[in-house]
Amino acid sequence: MHKSLRIAAVVAACAVTGTALYGAGAATAGQSTANSTHEPYNIGLLVKDIDTYYGTTADAGGVYQASPDSPYAQDLARLDAAAKRHIDRAARKAHHRGEKPAVVFDIDDTLLLSLDYEKRYNYTFNPTTWADYVNKADRPGVFGSAELVQYAESKGVEVFYNSGLSEAQRTAAVANLKKIGADVNLDADHMFLKDKANPPAYLSSCATPGTWTCTTVQYKSGTRKHIEDDLGYEIVANFGDQYSDLDGGYADRTYKIPNPTYFVS
Ligand SMILES: [Mg+2]
Repeated sequence: MHKSLRIAAVVAACAVTGTALYGAGAATAGQSTANSTHEPYNIGLLVKDIDTYYGTTADAGGVYQASPDSPYAQDLARLDAAAKRHIDRAARKAHHRGEKPAVVFDIDDTLLLSLDYEKRYNYTFNPTTWADYVNKADRPGVFGSAELVQYAESKGVEVFYNSGLSEAQRTAAVANLKKIGADVNLDADHMFLKDKANPPAYLSSCATPGTWTCTTVQYKSGTRKHIEDDLGYEIVANFGDQYSDLDGGYADRTYKIPNPTYFVS
């Protein structure tokens, strides 16, 4: 939703200034001649841009890693600093009012970085290779995220996880989060994973045993509604790398973790 709004704004700006929209697009793609086609951004150049953004390098074991001084890491550092200021302030306010503050974290590419998988498989999802990858429980942490989890806990803010990983992936998710130092509330009362066979009653509008029709936004916002309305917490911040992690309300603030490698609607 945010994305389409931003694209619409660019089109409007071009219309006002009379800029040739496709000419601008062609220049961005590094072409030497202007054209008026609808050619999308060149995928070879896009892959290079993504490598530059993450500072991607293969380590001694051949695993692709992001660089701690990359533009990606710098974006995360700025976002985390702002989030900490907000969490600190919101926690004080909530405690003063007698409310129970909470934060919610998505897992994939919010806490655990899947860059190696994405690059290795050309940014294309396959359920079998993905399940193998997740079950290795060896993903590196997204820079600063484990520290953010620890920070929230240190301020008396309850940490919850809200993930599209399945119940079958729970053991691997817990082991991997422990490994990166996000060792806070890794129990089933705080880590919400997708249980299509036996969905919880609070998702009954889109899921009953045997039938699952929940969109990502319905699943994730329905889980946040449960945390607020049924468990009695005030979600002061919600962290996710997809807009579908963040849309649908039930959080005072949302933080979009950068992820240019895939899109989950
Ligand atoms: Mg994610």
